[in-house]
Amino acid sequence: MFSETSKLAGMIDLEGLGLPSLPTPLPLASVDAHTHLDAVAQRTGLTAEQSLDLARSVGIHWLVQAGDSLADSTWGESFAKSHPSVVAGVALHPNEVARHPERFSADFAGITALAQAGDHVRAIGETGLDYFRTSDQTGQALQRQAFVKHITLAAEAGLTLMIHDRDAHDDVLAILDDSPGPPRVVMHAFSGDADLASACALRGYWLSFPGVISYNANQHLRRALEVTPADKVLAETDAPFLTPVPARGRPNGPYLIAHTIDFIAAQRGWALDQACLTLRDNAFAAFGGPWGEATDTAMGQQCDADV
Ligand SMILES: [Zn+2]
Repeated sequence: MFSETSKLAGMIDLEGLGLPSLPTPLPLASVDAHTHLDAVAQRTGLTAEQSLDLARSVGIHWLVQAGDSLADSTWGESFAKSHPSVVAGVALHPNEVARHPERFSADFAGITALAQAGDHVRAIGETGLDYFRTSDQTGQALQRQAFVKHITLAAEAGLTLMIHDRDAHDDVLAILDDSPGPPRVVMHAFSGDADLASACALRGYWLSFPGVISYNANQHLRRALEVTPADKVLAETDAPFLTPVPARGRPNGPYLIAHTIDFIAAQRGWALDQACLTLRDNAFAAFGGPWGEATDTAMGQQCDADV
């Protein structure tokens, strides 16, 4: 299986598309815990299928597709249904909520329906607060109301809550503390410091680290990673955004998470094969259990996904 997908991936002209080259394959199969295959396609010209082939060629066999709007949550649900290696999150992004208050009721009804579409929908996300892009009081108040509704939906549907938190750490935690607890909470693209990481760890949340953890300026993220319990660390691309070193400044794709996993392993002092396993097991726990197939690893060894 590996050689077949490698051949497919090898036929994709990354250089011609202006995309970073393939990283060294990971020694064991692992996960991209948050990506946007549809946005990658729009940004780069890589189809979602090609993104999966490229990801698989470096050892990424499982992905979580995040939703930002009703339209792309609908796309993600449908794509996950036909691609067992992918599970979907469905939600209205906080900035989408602030931009289109007139659509909220109808769109949220659509998200509620998608949440019940089956086992390929594992998360309500990304939802949360973004006080960086939405700076007006009215927009922020709308975001808080929408966030509470998403939390309630995750709790009722028994799904993981996948949170977008930008410049809104205190309000995110305060709202979560006041809400009916969803079974599992993932802080996507974790952007806080060690104190916030500890506060999240106390609450049992998973912290998902993107490629920007490799940027020199982001020492606070590396400190946060240091204090996160080993079983709560996730790695994600948030592709096409947040591209890791050494491809910084260029579009991101799920295949580039190999750089981020490599970086996280070095920071934590984990052997790379152990990092792949730990991040895989953590993602399965964070998103309600294994999905897809127990599959060969990138090295062609049997990979036991029975966790
Ligand atoms: Zn995202």
